[in-house]
Amino acid sequence: MSNVFNWQLGREMEYPYEAAFPEQQFAFVFNTNRCIGCQTCTMACKSTWTFSRGQEYMWWNNVETKPYGGYPHHWDVRLLDMLEKANPGGQTWGGTPESLRAPYGTFNGKTVFEAAQTHIGPEGANRALGYLPADDEWSAPNRYEDHPAGNEKGAKGEYFKGGERLPEHKTWFFYLARICNHCTYPACLAACPRNAIYKRPEDGIVLIDQERCRGYRKCMEACPYKKTYYRGNTRTSEKCIACYPRVEGRDPSGGGLPMITRCMSACIGHIRLQGLIELNQDGTWKEARNNPLYYLVHVAKVALPLYPQFGTEPNGYYIPPRWVPRPYLRQMFGPGVDEAIERYIAPDRELLAVLQLFGKDERICDRYEIKEGPKVFEGEVRGKKFEIYNDTIIGYAKDGTKIIETTVEEPVYVRPERHANSI
Ligand code: SF4
Ligand code: SF4
Ligand code: SF4
Repeated sequence: MSNVFNWQLGREMEYPYEAAFPEQQFAFVFNTNRCIGCQTCTMACKSTWTFSRGQEYMWWNNVETKPYGGYPHHWDVRLLDMLEKANPGGQTWGGTPESLRAPYGTFNGKTVFEAAQTHIGPEGANRALGYLPADDEWSAPNRYEDHPAGNEKGAKGEYFKGGERLPEHKTWFFYLARICNHCTYPACLAACPRNAIYKRPEDGIVLIDQERCRGYRKCMEACPYKKTYYRGNTRTSEKCIACYPRVEGRDPSGGGLPMITRCMSACIGHIRLQGLIELNQDGTWKEARNNPLYYLVHVAKVALPLYPQFGTEPNGYYIPPRWVPRPYLRQMFGPGVDEAIERYIAPDRELLAVLQLFGKDERICDRYEIKEGPKVFEGEVRGKKFEIYNDTIIGYAKDGTKIIETTVEEPVYVRPERHANSI
């Protein structure tokens, strides 16, 4: 075991290999407040990569309804339970938040790697605490779709009594879109006895070498997000490849520029923003004030990692849903939840502009600038002053090409009378 630094935990942790950081890291932000559960992302991935025989149960992108849904079923609850048994009462956060190295304070508990040292999971001694889901747990990718939780249910079918309002609903659910997090410390990679899993030095994308894989499924057991899948007819495991030909700029429609993945570009709700992050020597993010991901994660702090306590340093970040009970969200996204929601509910001028970048272009936005416009609204949101300025945000690709120009207020187009009834 080596000691590596995990900034999401604000401390060093044990990992089977030495830290090795890529030149830049594939990362993304999903805004759960905007996801409508349409599964367009899911089908975009399936029709691109997993439509063949043996891949029927592979959903590299899936969207589950929380709290009851999950693919495989109850993947997160099962692991949280195992971690709690391995370290009863100890899975807590503390310390003081501190810049880039400990933005959420310090995690006092045990990660999947640390818990594996002291606790034997159901599959025996391993490099990461985990479990191998049974076949039937993969059978229904969208079980519990639209099922709400809450104690305030009235008669059957009467989920709302009226008067519900933010910040929290007593009866609630939300959609959680998931892909592989292309983790900085992947548990799948750590667990593979064949060294078949590797993290690309150029962009941090985690891949399974199909020549080396022998289908032992140690990656499936170890990945806390359950994002590798077994294919019976080839006897190998497969996973999300982050649409690497597009990220490399090899999709002809991008004119040579790095492009966002299929699931990102197909997203109907415009909930997804994807990019490439440059890292410091210790794995923290290099300051890039006007990179949209850097801004959302480290400046506005509205986007948080999914289950950071698992310890893999996932590179998927989420703007938490603002109507869901906070203890649930703190468990899922860590201690930054309250601050993130406060800022998102009444966004300041810059945040409002940056939120317009989601889903606007298929090329990766590396940097933005904002041109100030007039004030168009002034009011109050939950006791806080809230103003809207019709600013223009301009996005650039890494080579300086201008790829996005959009305003905060959506322009209104009035259809000319002569086309009134045409589509
Ligand atoms: S999410 Fe799972 S499969 Fe993806 S890199 Fe992390 S540990 Fe590996
Ligand atoms: S990034 Fe590409 S391979 Fe991965 S889930 Fe999205 S569409 Fe599928
Ligand atoms: S396409 Fe976008 S809005 Fe639709 S389910 Fe996927 S993430 Fe949600």
